[in-house]
Amino acid sequence: MLLELFGVAVLALPASPPPSLVVIHAGAVIDGTSAAARRDQAIVVRGNRIESVGPWTPSAVPSGARVVDLSSATVTPGWIDAHTHLMLDPAGGDYDTQLLKQTNEFRAARATALARRMLDQGFTTVRDVETEGAGYADVGLKQAVEAGYVVGPRMYVSTRAISSTGGYEPNGYSPERDIPAGAQLVDGPVEARKAAREQLAYGADWIKVYMNHRSWVDAKGRLVSQPTLTLDELKAVVDEAHGWGRKVACHAYNGIGMRRALDGGCDSIEHGLDLSDEDVAQMVKQGTWLCPTMMPYYYEWAPENTPAGAKDRKRMEVHMPSMRKALKAGVKIVFGTDAGSFSWDEPLAKEFAYMVEFGMTPMAAIQAATSRSAEMLGAAGELGVLAPGAYADVVAVAGDPLADVKVLEKVVFVMKDGKIYKEPAGR
Ligand SMILES: [Zn+2]
Repeated sequence: MLLELFGVAVLALPASPPPSLVVIHAGAVIDGTSAAARRDQAIVVRGNRIESVGPWTPSAVPSGARVVDLSSATVTPGWIDAHTHLMLDPAGGDYDTQLLKQTNEFRAARATALARRMLDQGFTTVRDVETEGAGYADVGLKQAVEAGYVVGPRMYVSTRAISSTGGYEPNGYSPERDIPAGAQLVDGPVEARKAAREQLAYGADWIKVYMNHRSWVDAKGRLVSQPTLTLDELKAVVDEAHGWGRKVACHAYNGIGMRRALDGGCDSIEHGLDLSDEDVAQMVKQGTWLCPTMMPYYYEWAPENTPAGAKDRKRMEVHMPSMRKALKAGVKIVFGTDAGSFSWDEPLAKEFAYMVEFGMTPMAAIQAATSRSAEMLGAAGELGVLAPGAYADVVAVAGDPLADVKVLEKVVFVMKDGKIYKEPAGR
């Protein structure tokens, strides 16, 4: 319709079209919070939100809705990988090669493909815990995903990460050479706070700190880890981040660094390979999250009769009892793979099977990757659940993951923000 406006003919556009309406017919629904699956359900998606979840009734399908038949599949909320490094890919060379020889532009371009791969595997949200020398490339990638230029998960990013002098890769270079570090290295609470301020100002959703760096097996056969930031340095970072309403993720294995991480008030312990009873009790008391990341420790061990080989085997040996202790005490556990520290060719869903092997039920492992991670991210009710009002992030797998957790590697359907990115063939 043409209108006259101030003497100029303008085209009057119709009101914006109504939001799309999709009804998913699910063979079974695992909603992210309930203790059991529910059979034969309908999930109504209007626009980018879930409108309702209830028993499937063909006559109740609203007119104009598109029906997606997942009646032989199990449908869950989109998954959250709470520990990745999208700017790293070992297929492109070892750590030092990536840091020293690859441009940030190359690494960011590569990360667009890895982000797509994550989404195809059912991960609709990611907390990427530092760029490993690629600066603020994660902020740019997140912006490109949000603007629709790149297909990938929703991103929570932590930019450069913080450690101390001598507390991060790369190691072993001549002191005469000026080698860039994989993290922002600080000494003293003033520098620590300044680094946190910079990272928050340039777009960090989380601050990542390293509380341990080198690990080795001592003469008594114990795993020992070098501490990095002091308690005062960590407290400055945590205080600053909390003031901005942001959280702090602490890479910590055990020992002095772990004690400082917990005394300093960090929000999530990454890896937590070797938790003492005292560590576990403090995590429960403070409500600290644990992101255990089993996959990297099963990947490529150094030869057995070398210090590095002994360390690799020891890390695995202590991890299972540590995780079982945390589970028993009720520590809040989230799902994280540490992808990027190992090859992206490995299916990310393998982490679910490790979680089950380490003592979780398949349902608890699925909740760790859905509602629990969403809660840690401050998005409870919006992400990680199939419930009215949540973002329409939906994944389906062929089979029953509660009977065989490995079927989580067989993703047949992915919807993010109401848009379908993958669906069964023949449609
Ligand atoms: Zn990591």
